[in-house]
Amino acid sequence: MKKSLKVDPVKCVACRLCELACVFGREKVYNPKRARIKIHMVGIPELPAPVFTRLCDTCGGNPRCLAICPVNAISYEEDNPRPDEKTIPDHEEVVHRWLSQVMPKPAEEEKAKD
Ligand code: SF4
Ligand code: SF4
Repeated sequence: MKKSLKVDPVKCVACRLCELACVFGREKVYNPKRARIKIHMVGIPELPAPVFTRLCDTCGGNPRCLAICPVNAISYEEDNPRPDEKTIPDHEEVVHRWLSQVMPKPAEEEKAKD
């Protein structure tokens, strides 16, 4: 099965280093407008929605964006959805997953009351 790129929007911190690595690696310019990965900011609160453009060729199987991502939000695996099946992440779901990492679990809440 063919490998595909994916970004976990919950891990992404919108640093946009991937955009710079992409465009500099190919064109030797720091112009994120020409990058083949785009970090869109959507919703309230604003959250990153990373999207690969159709021009992405996975850097021939050695993605520069993946190598530079400081939080390992990008993966390049066989199990990832194919590019034509990818959609912008559901904002509410991302907020939910994000908050559930920092909210106390019910048992911890009870303990805190004692
Ligand atoms: S895999 Fe390469 S071409 Fe595709 S977005 Fe990442 S750096 Fe750009
Ligand atoms: S480098 Fe990683 S954390 Fe930074 S914007 Fe890109 S995907 Fe998000």
